[in-house]
Amino acid sequence: MQVPFYNFAALHDHNFRQEANQRLAKILETNTFIEGEYNQAFEQKFAKMQGAKHCLMVANGTDALEIALLVHNIGPGDKVGVPGITFYATVEAILNVGATPVFIDVNLDSGLIDPESLERMIKAHDIKAVMPVHIYGLPAPIAEIEKICRPKNIHVIEDAAQAQGTFLGDRPVGSTQNMVTFSFYPTKNLGAAGDAGAILCQDDEQARIIKVIRNHGRGDDSRLGRNSRCDHMQAALLEMKLPVIEEQNRMRKKCAEMYHQALGQLPVKLLDKKFLAQSSWHLYPIHLGSPQERMQLQEHLKSKNIGTQPFYDYCLSSMKSIAHFSGEDKNAKALMGRVLCLPMNPFLSKEEIDYVASSISEFYR
Ligand SMILES: *Cc1c(COP(=O)(O)O)cnc(C)c1O
Repeated sequence: MQVPFYNFAALHDHNFRQEANQRLAKILETNTFIEGEYNQAFEQKFAKMQGAKHCLMVANGTDALEIALLVHNIGPGDKVGVPGITFYATVEAILNVGATPVFIDVNLDSGLIDPESLERMIKAHDIKAVMPVHIYGLPAPIAEIEKICRPKNIHVIEDAAQAQGTFLGDRPVGSTQNMVTFSFYPTKNLGAAGDAGAILCQDDEQARIIKVIRNHGRGDDSRLGRNSRCDHMQAALLEMKLPVIEEQNRMRKKCAEMYHQALGQLPVKLLDKKFLAQSSWHLYPIHLGSPQERMQLQEHLKSKNIGTQPFYDYCLSSMKSIAHFSGEDKNAKALMGRVLCLPMNPFLSKEEIDYVASSISEFYR
């Protein structure tokens, strides 16, 4: 048996490709390449789905983070809190606007930002904004973070690049009062056939500024703009995926439940069961005893034709280019290299999940 990490063949099946071809051909016929009708349709529908008033499509998920920082006028001299376990793009956005990252430590069991570390870092540094990440699709503790940040007027920007399908309590990610950013990179839960991203917000003035910035400052000459438009072809494909995305996210949850069931007795650490209903299950990480154990298990699974990914084999403070910034990183360092992500996509069968589980079991026998 072969269990690849992703399954694009099932995602973009014959029917999908047929309708996609029709949409793309029409765009070529009508020369509506940028910000066309599908952009508007997607923005309206996605905002509604996620409980936001506004959705503004942009060129990618990193731009979405950068533009959200710019809307809050964050730049050189400003400090921004970022969890030590995330994809590099989160900290890249802070650096790209000229601000200074402060590393916030993470919860050792989940990898999510730790509000207590945030509180300490706010006392030690003049932090102007914090970017909690819904890492792996797990819900970051936004309510606790807001409680800490609101009284001090610290902005919260949620990096939801991996969290299409995540719920904070009974509300979808995107329904808070914060700006919430998405990436539609092809491997994300909701993926384009190229680069795309979006910012969700509830505030009319924030939405106006985002529109100005993403299109060269047009409409407001007091602002510096840039090009971060989302092209019409990506919007056409993303809009096409919306009717099935919630069902696909439910299928991911079923897969996570099956993994939890199948791996429950093995000597690997699983995420808390409380996340089963809340996470988007963008990734299915397991925690291992040491980086060496992770590497050996990954090799073993590779020999069984099972695709895995070591997200993340670094923490931000371990990266040479940014290691000199301050903050806390005890748990982030402890987690580094010990996490292995198993195959996760909506189309995994029970047989495939059982095969992954029995292959892991064989490794420990
Ligand atoms: C993918 C991702 C991004 C960046 O998105 P791009 O579209 O590649 O720019 C940012 N943050 C996180 C957590 C991501 O997973």
